[in-house]
Amino acid sequence: AAKDKGRNTYLFYNSEMNETLVNKLNIENDLRKALASQEQLQLFYQPQLDLHTGKIVGYEALIRWFHPERGYIPPLDFIQVAEDCGLIIPLGEWVLREACLQLKKWQDLGFSDIRVSVNIATKHFQHPSFVSDVLNTLKEAELSAKYLELEITENSLLDSTQSTIETLTKINDLGIRIAIDDFGTGYSSLSYLKNFPISTLKIDQTFVYELPTNTGDRAIVSSIVNLAHNLGMRVVAEGVENNDALKYLQQEKCDEMQGYFFSRPLPADKVLEFMEKHTLNI
Ligand code: C2E
Ligand code: MG
Ligand code: MG
Ligand code: MG
Repeated sequence: AAKDKGRNTYLFYNSEMNETLVNKLNIENDLRKALASQEQLQLFYQPQLDLHTGKIVGYEALIRWFHPERGYIPPLDFIQVAEDCGLIIPLGEWVLREACLQLKKWQDLGFSDIRVSVNIATKHFQHPSFVSDVLNTLKEAELSAKYLELEITENSLLDSTQSTIETLTKINDLGIRIAIDDFGTGYSSLSYLKNFPISTLKIDQTFVYELPTNTGDRAIVSSIVNLAHNLGMRVVAEGVENNDALKYLQQEKCDEMQGYFFSRPLPADKVLEFMEKHTLNI
């Protein structure tokens, strides 16, 4: 019986592995096509609200892939594949360019003081041409660097090699903001916070969903807000889904928030309408 069980286990894992591999290859091929045609990829934008003033201060760009046969494929299902096969470089460049050009259009229409936050994958951040790509994109879009924020994760800072420090310093010297996304969930130590030029901490949604009832989350969130402020950084809460959470964050002096309660990510053509109509009384 043990032998049978062993063999079944083997077959089971084997076919699972094949499925994953096939799936990965499909995603890779299909993503390559999507990038070439540019018809399936789109950026959505989620507004970020200033909790002190009630004003929209920026938008986070989030990639959307609408596959002709498979329908919507969430970013978490293909970003890692794109990193593994190298497609993250053209993909990341496309996102950066698209987001900067779009923001410039909104600014030209009168929303002159809003910024855009762009998620940067670790492999892209660590690529030798990253800083010059960012700079070229800003030039092409005729966008001032202070309106761009790059969201990186703690994992991008795991190896504090000379090149990581150089990249961060160059970005900061250009006047571009750097935010740590999903703060509190990575494997990195806190020491990078005092060594690196970081402007923003984004509190991970897992600490925000159950506010204000969850005691542990309350302690964590209020500590992150204090930590950020004591280090001279801004702090943003993501995943705000209800008014009680918003009120709690406001009371704790969290600077900004984003979440379904205020708005889901919107297609670009819905953003102007949203900005014109929306002011939240807080
Ligand atoms: P993230 O950067 O932490 O983005 C926040 C995610 O939470 C987004 O999911 C957003 O749609 C979702 N979200 C926002 N508010 C709420 C809320 O109130 N409740 C809930 N349940 N969810 C909320 P999305 O768009 O599926 O993206 C997932 C992740 O994929 C992102 O996490 C980011 O790590 C990655 N990603 C998305 N777009 C890009 C991109 O253009 N480039 C790269 N490298 N990564 C991206
Ligand atoms: Mg993000
Ligand atoms: Mg996040
Ligand atoms: Mg996340």
